[in-house]
Amino acid sequence: MDTPPRPSRPPRPQLVFDVLATAWVTPHMVRVTLGGPAFDEFQPKDVTDSYVKLLFAKPELGLTPPYDLAGLREQLPPEDVPVTRTYTVRRINPADRTIDVDFVVHGDEGLAGPWAARAKPGDQIALMGPGGAYDPDTTADWHLLVGDESATPAIAATLEALPEDAAGVVFLECGSSEDMIELVTPRGVEVVWVRRDARDDATKFLLANAVSAYPWPAGRVQVFAHGERESMKALRDVFLKERGLLKEQLSLSGYWAAGRTEDRFQAEKREPIGVILPA
Ligand SMILES: Cc1cc2nc3c(=O)[nH]c(=O)nc-3n(C[C@H](O)[C@H](O)[C@H](O)COP(=O)(O)OP(=O)(O)OC[C@H]3O[C@@H](n4cnc5c(N)ncnc54)[C@H](O)[C@@H]3O)c2cc1C
Repeated sequence: MDTPPRPSRPPRPQLVFDVLATAWVTPHMVRVTLGGPAFDEFQPKDVTDSYVKLLFAKPELGLTPPYDLAGLREQLPPEDVPVTRTYTVRRINPADRTIDVDFVVHGDEGLAGPWAARAKPGDQIALMGPGGAYDPDTTADWHLLVGDESATPAIAATLEALPEDAAGVVFLECGSSEDMIELVTPRGVEVVWVRRDARDDATKFLLANAVSAYPWPAGRVQVFAHGERESMKALRDVFLKERGLLKEQLSLSGYWAAGRTEDRFQAEKREPIGVILPA
């Protein structure tokens, strides 16, 4: 018997935003402020790790957003179909009708980082979303927020959403003292910067070693930890093996993987190397 064809998913709506402004937050992070008529269609999610999928098409194809992805998949070779890059919505500014997205500028490689570094008012970008799932649990005794630069926007947004009497510790990996940004935190939240002098085999242990060596406060912790994939695996072992936390206490995932484009990183989530928390 023939298998019935799978019902095709409706295309996810794309919103085409205008770049209104850019500002360097640090020498390696640029904030792109997006607005225009698309803001009216943007439906915020009530989470602090809200993210969007930005779409990038090869400039030489002359495509204009929004993209008919289903049609393009039929017409173009796979390598020419627009690809997505995932970015946190750092802040929504309802009064200005804009959203801010903070991009790590990690060199000339890739699409989104170089695009953001060169973005200028008048440019356009299509995006899908937002998605996201993290909402700080106000009944937790304390909050542990851990990440590298890619997770700094989500951590900064989370800190701003915590109640004034929240307690916690933040560990942020950064490449130099110039990358340490001002964070708005409740008084009971400590910020620990973890310096990365170079990217090498030891980098993946930097955050895990810092978290492991820290004198943990008593009580039930809620964890938000995101960043480079291997770094997150090292943290997983601290959380589950050393500290005996339950998976339900953890929001833990890779935001990127060293040496991989996001396309490959996403595809590897279906392989053993891409799994951080087994189901
Ligand atoms: C839910 C979610 C939210 C995210 N939010 C943000 C955010 O707010 N800001 C942000 O900057 N990133 C964020 N990221 C990470 C971002 O999606 C990846 O870093 C992405 O790979 C960048 O795309 P690219 O086109 O610049 O580089 P790609 O084409 O994907 O990769 C090219 C090369 O650059 C390397 N690379 C990619 N990212 C980094 C990095 N951060 N540092 C050093 N090298 C890197 C890759 O390993 C690869 O070798 C988020 C990811 C997820 C899943």
